[in-house]
Amino acid sequence: MDSLTVLVPVYNEEAVIGEFYRRTVDVCETLEGTRFELLFVDDGSSDRSIELVHDLIQDDPRVSLLRLSRNFGKEAALTAGLDHVDSDAVIIIDADLQDPPELIPDMLKLWRQGYDTVYGQRTERHGESFTKKVTASAFYRLMARVGRFSIPRDTGDFRLLSRRAVNALKSLPESNRFMKGLFSWIGYPQVALKYSRDPRHAGDTKFNYWKLWNFALDGITSFTTLPLKLASYIGVLLAFGSFVYGAYVVVKTLLWGDPVPGYPSLMTVILFIGGIQLMFLGVLGEYLGRMFDETKRRPLYLIQEHVRGRETERKTSVIAAAGESVK
Ligand code: UDP
Ligand code: MG
Repeated sequence: MDSLTVLVPVYNEEAVIGEFYRRTVDVCETLEGTRFELLFVDDGSSDRSIELVHDLIQDDPRVSLLRLSRNFGKEAALTAGLDHVDSDAVIIIDADLQDPPELIPDMLKLWRQGYDTVYGQRTERHGESFTKKVTASAFYRLMARVGRFSIPRDTGDFRLLSRRAVNALKSLPESNRFMKGLFSWIGYPQVALKYSRDPRHAGDTKFNYWKLWNFALDGITSFTTLPLKLASYIGVLLAFGSFVYGAYVVVKTLLWGDPVPGYPSLMTVILFIGGIQLMFLGVLGEYLGRMFDETKRRPLYLIQEHVRGRETERKTSVIAAAGESVK
């Protein structure tokens, strides 16, 4: 019998947890030959989410809770979850029902055919603003252009990962966890499963544009050094241009003398070069800051509470008992 863990990051999702649980369990109960558990990773919620998950744990032995000590962000929550699963396959899914749990059986089918990653690829995104769609698509296009491996377009975190893929992810030591990038970085056979993304069932999105911008910066800086190279090339071009222009000024002065005009052009050039320099200092800073974060080697998350569902407890004790009898 295969085991499946459905991994759900939760941050202030009291409005959707009940419905999410109902729909997901309904689907998972139809699975044949698969034992499933639900692992909620609470990312420092301040509403009633934790209470609701505790209630579920009371009634359903297949539900577990991993609670982080504060809000660490979705990437850290996913990392924490993956660090704590031991099943044959893991499905990562948002709590807000934007990713339909009804796709789970299809994902498992593809996994059984030998794929290590089955990622949901959105053909449509309902209920999201025009700006969000445009910026998201621009970001995916940019990443596809600059990355050294391709990150599939229109793909979020909704996916199935095999045991082998999870182990690979766990072995990556970096603290800047841009999961979409890491998922692709590991390679292994991957396949897309197309679906149309629903609007949020209830509650509000946790990502505003500022967060998304920083998320995009994380993605770019952790997977390409192109901006740094760009700085060198633009520098070379400018230096060359300045040299030519300098030669022109010298020759002009020698031939016709210098009646001291040119304040506007001087200002323009100074401001332009100053601006470019500051901009690329900023780019350097982005990389340096991230190196600083990496060198601190802080843990990615801290756990406040880990309630293992009774089903998981039973499984572990069976394994432990088996181990003892072998000794
Ligand atoms: N989430 C999280 N930590 C955060 C922000 C979000 O664990 O700091 C979870 C959230 O509860 C949800 C998923 O990540 O299950 C996706 O969040 P959301 O729906 O707000 O993002 P969107 O779909 O708008 O990109
Ligand atoms: Mg959402």
